[in-house]
Parts: sequence; C-alpha cells; structure tokens
Amino acid sequence: MHRPPLKKGDKMDLIYMDNAATTKVAPEVYEVMKEYFEEEYANASGAYSFAGKTSARVEEARRLVADFLGAKSNEIFFTSGGSESDNWAIKGIADALKSKGNHIITTKIEHHAVLHTCEYLESRGFEVTYLDVDEYGLVDPKAFEAAIRPETILASIMFANNEIGTIEPIKELGKIAHEHGVIFHTDAVQAYGHVKIDVNEMNIDLLSASGHKINGPKGVGILYIKKGIRINNLIHGGSQERGKRAGTTNTAGIMGFCVATKLAKERMDERNAREEELRDYLVKSVLERIPYTIYNGHPTSRLSNNANFCFRFIEGESLLIMLDQKNVCGSSGSACTSGSLDTSHVLLAIGLKHEIAHGSLRLTVSAENTKEEVDYVVDALETIVGRLRNMSPLYEDFLRKEGK
Ligand SMILES: *Cc1c(COP(=O)(O)O)cnc(C)c1O
Repeated sequence: MHRPPLKKGDKMDLIYMDNAATTKVAPEVYEVMKEYFEEEYANASGAYSFAGKTSARVEEARRLVADFLGAKSNEIFFTSGGSESDNWAIKGIADALKSKGNHIITTKIEHHAVLHTCEYLESRGFEVTYLDVDEYGLVDPKAFEAAIRPETILASIMFANNEIGTIEPIKELGKIAHEHGVIFHTDAVQAYGHVKIDVNEMNIDLLSASGHKINGPKGVGILYIKKGIRINNLIHGGSQERGKRAGTTNTAGIMGFCVATKLAKERMDERNAREEELRDYLVKSVLERIPYTIYNGHPTSRLSNNANFCFRFIEGESLLIMLDQKNVCGSSGSACTSGSLDTSHVLLAIGLKHEIAHGSLRLTVSAENTKEEVDYVVDALETIVGRLRNMSPLYEDFLRKEGK
C-alpha cells in the first residue's frame, strides 16, 4: 500500500475489509494462470505431449496441496469450489452409506453450502441433528458425542466459522466421531491457508477448501477424501479426477489454486501476525469509541482477520450502505443473506436477540490493509453509528428508560 497518511475525514480509495467473502488474486497466481490460458491450454486428458505436460503439472499441483494437508496425492480431488466440495462430501457419503444409516450430525452455524445440503437430504428421508453452539460459537464435544446414534453415518462440522471467525476443536470432534465409527467431514474453507491443518493428526476424513478465500481464483477448490472412504460421485461424466469427478480439468484454476496454497503456506505466520495486529487495533478502537457495541466470536480461538460486531439500536443493512458511501466494503451477516433482512443464523445461534443481531457488521482484514485504513474505518463507523442511532426509535426508548 502506497498511500499517504490520512487526515480525519479524508475521502480515499476503496477500503476492502471483506476478505471472508473473497480475496484479491495474488500477482503470482495471476501470472501462472495467464500461462495456462494463453499457452498451456491443452485439455489435460489429451493423448499428445502438449497435454501430457499439462497433466503432469496438475499432478504436481495435487502433490503440493496434499503435502500442505499431510495427505496423499490420490486423496485430493479438484472441484469447482467450496460449495461443490461440501455438496459432494455430504450427498456423496449419504448416498453411499444409506443402507448403513440415515442420520447426519452438523451444527447450527454452518455455511449454507452445508446447511442447505443437509436440509435437502432431510427432504429425501435423512435425519439431521443441528448442534447448538455456546455464546462464542463453539461446539461442545460432549453434546456432539451425545447426539451420535447407531444409525449416524456422517458428521459435518466446520473448521472455522465464516461470520464470527471461531475455530472449532476439530481434532477432538474428529476423535469422537471415529470412536463411534462416524465419518468426519469439515468445511475448512475459512481455515485453509490460515490455520495449520494435518488431516491425519486431526482425525479428518473429508475436508473442503476453496481457492478464492486464499488469494486464488474463484471457481476452484478441493475435496480431500481419505483413502478407503466410500463416497458416491456428485458430478457424473468423463473419467477425470480418477473417475470420481467429471469435467474437463480446470488447468488454469488448479495451477492458480496451487500457487495460492504455496503462498499461503510460506506466508502463513507472517500474514496471521500482521492481520492480528490490524484486527486487534480495529477491535480496540471500535470498542473504545463506540458505546453499546458487542464483539462477537471467541476471544482467542478465532481467525486472525475476523472482527464481528453488533452495534445496538441500529440496522446492519443501513450501516453497510453508509459505509459503502465512504468506500468501505464490509458485510452484515453472511453474503448469502445480505440484500434481505434475514437475521444471521450464526448470530442467533450464539444467543443474540433478533434486534441485536440485526445491527451486525463483519470486517475481515487482509495483510494489505493499513493502520490508516483502520483509523478511517473507525472514524466512519463512529459517525455513521451515531447518525443511525439518532434516527433510531429503539435508541430513543433506551435513552428514555435510562433517564438520559
Ligand atoms: C465461501 C465459503 C464457502 C463456499 O465456497 P465457494 O468456493 O464460494 O463455493 C463454503 N463454506 C465456507 C465456510 C465459506 O466461507
């Protein structure tokens, strides 16, 4: 970032603090992808050496991703992203094991790619338990164990939550699943590249990740499937991905995903430290300067870039619009619910009342953000929240009751 320090009230370029929604493609990622669009454009399944070269590079990419997760190459399958991986894991296991049992366990705070898939399976005769979480968004391992039945075939519990950043005790939950013969899937889309993951050590059977959350391209992801796990196909067609996932190999996307993974691995500690510094400064400033604000999520077991607030007496949607007028990108609830007045299912699950959950704002920083940008955003927030509260009947009531 090459910006001069800002003075209070200065208007500036776009300030992007919505990195849980998507991230900018890294220049190194773009470079390699360009090569696969312009020069190495072969269909990786071709019989000529032009294709052979490409397919060899795809296998190298697969090995790099496998190494990153402590997995084997033949356990990594490239998909079109996090949503497909979640759908495949859950529907594929449900379909393969339906003669064994019809019960699935998940949580109330999953991404819609998991929740809506589970709801679909309920309409097809499966039973789903949606586990509660505590005020920080943590799943209770004892409650998980208690929910397991003889007919439970699969548990799907996210690694880190996309709205409030809470990191779940995955290793412990996976251990419990295995003690009861239950297959364990985790949606690690937010954790991949931010948290060190070893699938064997953490008792993970299936894991979803996505390129565009880690400075890779949109439309590519992976599903890790532990060797020996029985799973049916989601996408039928050609014999790509060892016959398990049809579709012409997305070579540019896969190479981009691979470079994004490599960068995430190399820079993980440094980047997490930088994000944490910015995030903590943001949280401290907001809580000091804006009263009646709740900081959501776990105080320590959380993603380095995530800050999630509820500003009492106001609507998150109005807040977002006014932030947008100041060129600040943030999010209210999850991206899937923005544009509607649906209250975030995650904030309700951590026990917030509807009217409080409505006033939510998620800011997810990147290492490229600056302290000056944080200052600008906090200034903007202070002004906007003040203005919205002055128009808020809820705030007026509150002040009257307080005798102010
Ligand atoms: C973004 C996200 C997804 C969806 O991934 P896509 O690649 O956009 O389909 C799934 N789960 C979580 C937790 C996410 O944050």
